[in-house]
Parts: sequence; structure tokens; C-alpha cells
Amino acid sequence: MTERKPLISGNWKMHHNHFQAIQMVQSLSYQLNNDDYSYCDVSVHPPFTDLRSIQTVLESDNIPISLGAQHCHEQEKGAFTGEVSTGMLEKLNVKLVIVGHSERREIFNETDSQVNAKIKAIFKHGMTPILCVGETIDERDAGDAETKIKNQLIEGLQGIGKDRVGKMVIAYEPIWAIGTGATATPADAQEMCAHVRNCILEISGKSPSESIRIQYGGSVKPVNIADLMMQNDIDGALVGGAALEAESFARLVQYRLQ
Ligand code: PEP
Repeated sequence: MTERKPLISGNWKMHHNHFQAIQMVQSLSYQLNNDDYSYCDVSVHPPFTDLRSIQTVLESDNIPISLGAQHCHEQEKGAFTGEVSTGMLEKLNVKLVIVGHSERREIFNETDSQVNAKIKAIFKHGMTPILCVGETIDERDAGDAETKIKNQLIEGLQGIGKDRVGKMVIAYEPIWAIGTGATATPADAQEMCAHVRNCILEISGKSPSESIRIQYGGSVKPVNIADLMMQNDIDGALVGGAALEAESFARLVQYRLQ
């Protein structure tokens, strides 16, 4: 069986200016130790305005936390006011880029074909996409959750070689669980993450389906992360609210100690 190192990622959304972000990362790194990093990978995804400051803190103090972005534009450059390209992120030593978050899909109308173009742009610049998929409560109640996720994966991964797919991260995030406190049960989260892995098997084959890391996201907290992380097909967590404060984020990373 392929060993998959867990990845705990903090998506700060539109929180923390660069002063607050520096303080947060310094405090987080003070609370984590080498054992924590050998057990699991950690990434922080601050707003664009914080990236340069956080890059400097991480690199000057050799902190083994990966720098992540929350979004990118799919084009290299051009007249796209307000957007940031993957080439610009690469220059900041960004390693992971979240793509297709439900907030981007719902509020900013991002489509699966844009998501697909962004994934290609992220790989072109040597970074790793964290592709978010997930269903609404209506889709779940109608029994359509599995189909929705399969379609998001098929369209999002179109034309991406199987070697690249195997290096990706998929975040299964039921939309009804994001920011609501209504975490999926570990059994439900496992069932859907196993479904994601099965879809990858069908789309890209056995090897990528075994190596791809699948995160669960949706109201993950220090009190519920350990049970989620015990599930066979859950290889990490994408966390919003509980990753904003250093103490809470450190407890998430140290879930094995609970
Ligand atoms: C998220 O933003 O992807 C998320 C899962 O948020 P929260 O942990 O706050 O539900």
C-alpha cells in the first residue's frame, strides 16, 4: 500500500493583514516541532497581500511550512484587473494553490473548465493544485452527491496526465459543512473520500488513485480532526475557521496526540 503523508492546510480566506499573518505564522511555528513536521505536512494559504511577508518569515527561519495561495488566474499575463498569475505565485515560492473552492465557484461563478485551465497553469509553474469538490445540501438530499463530485473531477482533470494527477491534492468539502459547524461524520466523510479515490481510479488509473492525497474540509476542529484522520481514505484536512488562530491550528496539526 502507498504511504501518503497527511497534509493539513489552513485556508485563511479574507482574514489577517500582513502584520497579523506574520504574528500568526511565528506563533504557529513556535508551537510545532520536528516530530509534528515529520508526521504531517503543513501549509498556510494567506491572502495575496500577505504572501511576500510570510515567504520571508518561513525562509529566513527555515520553517518547514509550505506557502500556499487561495486562488490564481489561468492566463500567464494580460488585462485581467485584480488577478494574479501562477508565474507570479511561483516567484514567491508558493508550493500549493487551492483551486475550485466552493466560495469561488458560487460567489465568483468559476466553472469547471476554468478550474481545469487553472490546474494546468499551476502545474506549468511547478506548483501543486488542491482541487476542491463538494455537493450542496440539496444535491445530497436528492442523492446526487456522488454524481456531482464525479463530474467535477472528470471536467477538472481533463487533459491532465496521470503522473500529475497522482501528485495532486483533492479536497472533498461538502458545501453544507463549510463554516457551518455541521461537520460530516467520519463515516460519511470516509465514504465520500473513498468515492473520490474511486473516481480517480476510473479517470487516471491505479497508481494515481493510490498516491493522490484526499483532504476532508468542512468545520474541521481540534475536537473532531482525530476521528476524521483515522479514516482510510482521508489524508489530511483543509481548514478555514479553526486554522485562523495559532493555538487551534497547532492542535489540528498535532491531532495524533489526542
Ligand atoms: C474551507 O474554507 O475550505 C473550510 C472548510 O472552512 P471551515 O473549516 O471554516 O468550515
